[in-house]
Amino acid sequence: MGFKIGDLDVLPGTTGFGHLVGNHRGAGDLKIPITVVNGAKSGPVLGITAAVHGCEYNGVITCVTLGRDLDPKQLTGTLVLVPVANPPAFDTRTPFYNPLDGVNLNRVFPGNPYGSSSEQIAHALYQNVILRSDVYIDLHSGDMYEEIPLHTGINRVGDADLDAKAEKIARLFDMNLLCIMGKGIDDVGATMETEGMTFAGLRSGLTSCGNAALAGKPAVLIEAGGMGTVEPRVVDIEIRGIHNVMKYMGMLSGSPDTSLNHTPCYGMYIVKTKLGGLYTPDVACGDIVKKGQRLGTMMDIRGRRIAEYHSPMEGFVLMMYTTPVRASGETIVILGRLTEKPESH
Ligand SMILES: [Zn+2]
Repeated sequence: MGFKIGDLDVLPGTTGFGHLVGNHRGAGDLKIPITVVNGAKSGPVLGITAAVHGCEYNGVITCVTLGRDLDPKQLTGTLVLVPVANPPAFDTRTPFYNPLDGVNLNRVFPGNPYGSSSEQIAHALYQNVILRSDVYIDLHSGDMYEEIPLHTGINRVGDADLDAKAEKIARLFDMNLLCIMGKGIDDVGATMETEGMTFAGLRSGLTSCGNAALAGKPAVLIEAGGMGTVEPRVVDIEIRGIHNVMKYMGMLSGSPDTSLNHTPCYGMYIVKTKLGGLYTPDVACGDIVKKGQRLGTMMDIRGRRIAEYHSPMEGFVLMMYTTPVRASGETIVILGRLTEKPESH
């Protein structure tokens, strides 16, 4: 009669703390913590993951707080929380990658039960959490040395009803910027290569949210805070947003606040340097840059300027590293388009 997941069987009106097997290993299985708040009345399932990237902490505290404080007796349906989706990265404070295989977990969904550590973790999350959810939310932030403006994101798949529902849910979070990716956006993106840099759109189809959307689930990406910190103000925005989503889904009583304003941006375009060195930015995270505007410069260890980077498009600055050092092939900025269709060249 309970909600069964991993080693848990959570009775209605109770909260359970347990584990999923994330990956089979020699000395014992790698376990992913999981919290289930199972409402007194049956209803929809909301699945939430955090720390898919190991040093993105606001979402972890959001999940821990929700699991501790939500009263299952007041809840209709089931909230499934994965406070740490990538335990190897979290436990070793490894940004971006799972240290067991050097793979970015958010580029291998829907995973593979016979694959590397990250592929097995993605498979476990996809099968047990994403496919069982009616709505899926993945809580990210800037990683250990990443700065990101507060924003939500969705992946369009070309199903008008599903895409509209995902956008509606994304707009239940009090974050000004909504980044729209996926069909009709990623696949019409520009690519460019100059002497000093490359520029290409991120294909969102390998991410957790991208795969949830492809499986017919309204899915929302949250990017809130970063740089290895926990920010109570940001955690509060996430918790209020999730309460709002639960009201929208009929899981909590009360009507959702649908009056929040968001500026849309489209796609994620990654500018990468060809030369490593010491980078000095000219723009700040969240800025709107013009096409051709200088983004920053690179110098070598003697202080000689070795490259300048000019924006290949007009767009929002969606991500910057906070450290000066860059290796060849690393990211300078990620940009989001202001318009749904790319400007013509
Ligand atoms: Zn992330």
